[in-house]
Amino acid sequence: MSHVPVMTAAVLEHLRPGNGGLFVDCTVGLGGHARALLEAGATRLIGIDRDLDALARARETLAPWSDRVELVHADYRAIDEVLDRRQIDRVDGALADLGVSSMQFDSPGRGFSFQRDEPLDMRMDRSGGDTAADLVARSTERDIADAIFQFGEERLSRRIARAIVEARREGPIDTTGRLATIVRRALPRRGYLRIDPATRTFQALRIWVNRELDGLDRFIEAAARRLKTGARLVVIAFHSLEDRIVKHTLRALQQRDALVQVLTKKPIVPRDEEVERNPRARSAKLRAAERIA
Ligand code: SAH
Repeated sequence: MSHVPVMTAAVLEHLRPGNGGLFVDCTVGLGGHARALLEAGATRLIGIDRDLDALARARETLAPWSDRVELVHADYRAIDEVLDRRQIDRVDGALADLGVSSMQFDSPGRGFSFQRDEPLDMRMDRSGGDTAADLVARSTERDIADAIFQFGEERLSRRIARAIVEARREGPIDTTGRLATIVRRALPRRGYLRIDPATRTFQALRIWVNRELDGLDRFIEAAARRLKTGARLVVIAFHSLEDRIVKHTLRALQQRDALVQVLTKKPIVPRDEEVERNPRARSAKLRAAERIA
């Protein structure tokens, strides 16, 4: 299974690893961007990921540079601890390519996709925490509805939550197939649909399980504070909820704190050809900022 890194040219253009330096890839994933940074001149790289399977893949991808790379199993929201523990004060560039990787999405048994029937897990970090099945089993109808509404931007969230609560009385909702069927049945039939009606609910659950939006603002601020003057932070978001946080946080760091200069007035988006080649790029938005103070 391959994972094609998104907007690599724009990442390199903004991070400018050509003169070497220490870069931190906060979502190293399969190591695609990290490899590009090393090939382009980065002399040292710290790669963080909360998914052990991803780190194993990154280790393979980055094997030719193993003496210059350190891979760390951590949540990027712990970036300060990760750097402090290594006595690193500031870095020459930082990258966060948010969301799930195509490996996570496509790997059987992880439960991110409703295209296959498998256990309803959805945790990026399988070393602990609640699975999607746990949340669906234990949460109140109200909390389920709120999560589907907030994280899935699904207008019919209440109806779906009601159907979930009714169905779970009959038996656990612990597979992607069963959940997808419940959601599809709860929604009115329409004619032609561009996307599967379960898409938004699955996105919502994934964000909920992994607390993807919690502390994203604090992480971005922490990463920006770890940049050397003139160094840059690049963040790639994959849905509007995420991108909104990235945009507002970078703007506040510029206007309120005079810490950075935002380099992307509008987000950079992939070209059509890239989206054709790589479906994961479809909704990607890249924003970058340079440390000034
Ligand atoms: N840029 C990578 C792909 C990144 S995909 C490449 O080129 O290969 C996004 C990765 O971010 C996934 O591997 C996911 O496990 C990781 N991730 C998502 N949220 C995270 C978090 N809070 N902390 C650490 N890693 C996270």
